[in-house]
Amino acid sequence: MRIMLFSSQRYDQESFLAGNVGHAFELNFQNARLDFDTAALAEGYPVVCAFINDDLSAPVLERLAVGGTRLIALRSAGYNHIDLIAARRLDMDVVRVPAYSPYAVAEHAVALILALSRRLHRAYNRTRDGDFSLHGLIGFDLRGKTVGVIGTGQIGTVFAQIMAGFGCRVLAFDPQPNSALLALGAEYVELDEMLAASDILSLHCPLLPATRHLIDAARLQLMKRGAMLINTSRGALVDAPALIEALKSGHLGYLGLDVYEEEAQLFFQDRSDLPLQDDVLARLLTFPNVVVTAHQAFLTQEALEAIAATTLNNVAAWSAGQPCNQVVA
Ligand code: NAD
Repeated sequence: MRIMLFSSQRYDQESFLAGNVGHAFELNFQNARLDFDTAALAEGYPVVCAFINDDLSAPVLERLAVGGTRLIALRSAGYNHIDLIAARRLDMDVVRVPAYSPYAVAEHAVALILALSRRLHRAYNRTRDGDFSLHGLIGFDLRGKTVGVIGTGQIGTVFAQIMAGFGCRVLAFDPQPNSALLALGAEYVELDEMLAASDILSLHCPLLPATRHLIDAARLQLMKRGAMLINTSRGALVDAPALIEALKSGHLGYLGLDVYEEEAQLFFQDRSDLPLQDDVLARLLTFPNVVVTAHQAFLTQEALEAIAATTLNNVAAWSAGQPCNQVVA
C-alpha cells in the first residue's frame, strides 16, 4: 500500500519509518502542504496522510479522488479541517488519531501558564543579555487561583488534574460533564459564570460551528480584569483581533497561544528572514505579556510515536475492512 504524507517534517519521517517496521507500507514524505496544486503529487496513492494545516476542502478532495485516493488518514485528533460531506460524496474514507498523548497538550498549556505567570520568556532574554535585574518580573502563585477549563474531554481532564495538583480551584464547562472532573472536586458552571470567576481560562474544546469565536470581544469583557487566556486547542475558537484591544486596555492580563486562526500559511515553517505579513499576529507578538508557540503542544516523543503507530494501524485496519478510527459526517 502506497501512502503519501503531506506537510511531513523530519520528525514525522523518523517516527513513521520506525512505526512502519511491522507494516512495510510504501511511504512517500512530502514537505509540501496539501492544497489544490500539490494534490496532483498524490496521483496513484490510495492513501493520503494529512496534518492539521493541510487543505482538505471539497476541491482538493475531488482532485485527490481523480488521482485514485480512497483514504484520508489524518495524523491528528481534530478533524475540523476536512469537508466530511465532500469525502462521503466522493466515497472516500477518513480516519484519525483520536488519542495520542493528552499529557503532551495539557502539559504544554501548563508550560504556557508558568512561562507567563513567572515571566520566563522575559527572564530568559534578560539573563542572556547580562541583565540580572528583577524589575517587571513579579509573578503570582498558582495555589488558590481559579482555573476555568472549557472542554473536559481527554486533554481538558489531564489539564484540570494538573491544575488541581497546584492547589487551584477548578471550574469546568462542557455540554457533557465528565465524572473524572467531579472526582477532582471541580465544579461545572455556566460559561459566563466561569469567565467572571476565573484567573486563568484554558480552551480544550473542539472547533465546531458552535465554538467558532467562542471567545470574542464580548466574552473577553466578561473575563476578570487581568486574567490569563490560554488556547492550545484551535485558533478559530478565539477572535484574534479582539485580543489586541483587550490586551491594549489591560483587561486581558496574559495570553498564551499555541494555535492561531490564520496559522496555516505560517506555522511549521521557518519564515524568520521574511517580513511577517499578518498584522494581527505581528501586533500580538509585540505585547510583553503574550507568549505564542507555533502549534507545538502535540510535539513530544511519546505523542509522535503514538501518532505514527495509530495512523499506520488505521491504514492496515482500513485495508482489511476492520474498525479503524473512522470519522463520519
Ligand atoms: P475530546 O473529544 O476528548 O474532548 C473535547 C471535549 O470538548 C468533549 O468533552 C466535548 O464534550 C467538549 N465540547 C464540545 N463542544 C463544546 C462546547 N461548545 N463547549 C465546551 N466544551 C465542548 O478532545 P481532546 O482530545 O481533549 O482534544 C481537544 C482539542 O484539542 C481537539 O479538538 C483539538 O482541537 C485540540 N488539540 C490540539 C493539539 C495541539 O497540538 N495544540 C493537539 C491535539 C488536540
